[in-house]
Amino acid sequence: MRFLITGGAGFIGSHLTRFLISEGHKVLILDNFSTGSPKNVDSESGSPVPEIVDGSVCDAELVDRCTREVDAVFHLAAAVGTFTIARKTIESLRTNLHGTEAVVEAACRHRVPLLLSSTSEVYGLNAKTGLTEDDDRVLGSPPHSRWSYAEAKSVDETIAHAHAVEHDLDVVIARLFNTVGPGQSGEYGMVIPRFVRQALAGEPLTVFGDGSQVRCFCHVLDVVPALVALLREPGTRGQVFNVGGSEPVRIDQLARRVNAITGSPGGIVHVPYDAYFEPGYRDTPHRVPDCAKARARIGFRPTRDLDEIIRSVAADQRAHAVIRS
Ligand code: UDP
Repeated sequence: MRFLITGGAGFIGSHLTRFLISEGHKVLILDNFSTGSPKNVDSESGSPVPEIVDGSVCDAELVDRCTREVDAVFHLAAAVGTFTIARKTIESLRTNLHGTEAVVEAACRHRVPLLLSSTSEVYGLNAKTGLTEDDDRVLGSPPHSRWSYAEAKSVDETIAHAHAVEHDLDVVIARLFNTVGPGQSGEYGMVIPRFVRQALAGEPLTVFGDGSQVRCFCHVLDVVPALVALLREPGTRGQVFNVGGSEPVRIDQLARRVNAITGSPGGIVHVPYDAYFEPGYRDTPHRVPDCAKARARIGFRPTRDLDEIIRSVAADQRAHAVIRS
């Protein structure tokens, strides 16, 4: 089969590209390299390479041309990372709203199955342990730019779902919780690559706030096969599925684990949110998924625990530091 992956040169997209190519499929990537890089999808010697189109998902004509040529679409292109959303709010909204609209409409026009990647951020401040797909969104006031990501992604889900209902679009929505692994940059805010980079440099790890906020991390190599299975499984059509890790951890404890695993003497430092974000910034205090729906439908069960995730990110960063030096 031939797949279009929007954002295929990004962190998750590049892992998905390698996975599909290893299964013998052809991959067409549409990416504007805002946060992704062509280096992410460099071929290992002798293996087939994806075809890459350098362009934006907001270019509806280009999206239409790419979609016409494929059998299915993974829509991963998005403005990501809390730093990006805070600093480039308008551009992020444009990408996350207009880009998705263009992809959904093209998939509908060409009758091509679509997987839309959404985010656990849509649950916002809902701190229930074991968030399920029908749980309420609890978002702060719109002028606080943080919520613009959840707002845009929620609208994306509504657009996709409405096309399934009104136009019989074959679409499935994957709500990704914190996804981590080799190749992820800490530049846009993501905590594990940031902590690992700081630890390997012997610096203190920057824990935002009091560190009591809780997350579940899932290895990208557990997430990617789930995305493929969700797109392939006929019974997922028109539905939303949580995809995330199963081991809740406080961020201050995460920092200690990163220091222990990497052997860093740097310790941790608590940093107030307003050193990085606008005044009044509210972090999500507790975000833990219930993935029973994905488990029942596609057998989703993460296999890599948090220590393995941290070790794999550290090994990757060490390897790249060696290559650069
Ligand atoms: N975080 C932190 N220090 C950092 C980066 C992030 O304490 O240098 C915290 C952040 O405030 C959040 C958690 O780590 O509570 C996860 O952040 P990330 O941006 O990876 O994902 P989020 O869950 O916020 O989307």
